[in-house]
Amino acid sequence: MRAIIKASAEPGLKVTDVPEPTCGPNDVLIHVHHAGVCGTDVHIDEWDDWAQGRIRPPVVVGHEFAGEIVELGSNVGDQFHIGQLVTAEGHIVCGHCKSCRSGNGHICTNTSIIGVDRNGAFTEYLAMPASNVIPLGSIPTTIGSIMDAIGNAFHTVLTATIPGNSVLVTGCGPIGCFAAGVAQSAGATKVIATDVNQFRLDLAGKMGADVLINPEKEDVVARVREETGGDGADVVCEMSGHPIALAQAFQAACMGGQLQLLGIPKEPVTIDFSADIIFKGLSVHGVIGRRMYDTWLQMQTFLSSGIFDPMPAVTHTFPLEDIQKALDVIHSGNAGKVILEIGSN
Ligand code: ZN
Repeated sequence: MRAIIKASAEPGLKVTDVPEPTCGPNDVLIHVHHAGVCGTDVHIDEWDDWAQGRIRPPVVVGHEFAGEIVELGSNVGDQFHIGQLVTAEGHIVCGHCKSCRSGNGHICTNTSIIGVDRNGAFTEYLAMPASNVIPLGSIPTTIGSIMDAIGNAFHTVLTATIPGNSVLVTGCGPIGCFAAGVAQSAGATKVIATDVNQFRLDLAGKMGADVLINPEKEDVVARVREETGGDGADVVCEMSGHPIALAQAFQAACMGGQLQLLGIPKEPVTIDFSADIIFKGLSVHGVIGRRMYDTWLQMQTFLSSGIFDPMPAVTHTFPLEDIQKALDVIHSGNAGKVILEIGSN
């Protein structure tokens, strides 16, 4: 079967043939229809410090996908059937560590991620533990293939109190754009988005952000105060990891506000704990992955009911063979979410 792999410890990805996986007794075998390209895949392609420390080539890359069940393992019950359209949580967790036993599998200390620590989804067939598989119901595989990333946005936004509150999203990559849409759908009074890239900022507007701020043209903190009656934003979702955006996120939050941190800084950053956290009474929440499985249940409800539509943030679709074109358009900055078309519907 065709697959996109990290073949060796150097920059680049390769499209090649690999053996089809076997379906273990607790697995379902999925024929991949669509897959989402994520920033993580870009890091693996570039072979940056993180990738060098984590990836052990050769490995099939890609962790966002949706497709059709073609085989059921012998221990898999009748909750799934052949031909069913599904996606899956790509974090495979141990089930027995303190995090897992307390209902916090998203911070399992023994997490193995598909497309990172084991073979992933940029290929035709993928075996997944049945416990990780999520039925799509009426949700199409295009959207199903990006529920991993959409789930990051749901986890970031909905673990704060949204109804009746103002929400600031700093960083309008695909997950930031989704976050703006989720906040709008969940009843925010005003959604404010910031990004230095005008293309991405406009996408956040299409997803439902009411106020768009380009930090290269405007003072972010002053404008957020102006838009919130002088108080600052009730909830801030920091999606960029950029040190300047992080500083603005802390300063633009209101007294007693909630700061949700998803963006990953490349290096340690300096924070004024006394002014920006302690005297402000700020709540700071680190967000990783998707809660297993409440985030998925929330997403299914929002997507199935149509109150949240991620498609305005999806800008490009490419066949699997054209992964280089997909990476090029992401590098250009003039892209939102990029999807690979792999199997047939
Ligand atoms: Zn665990």
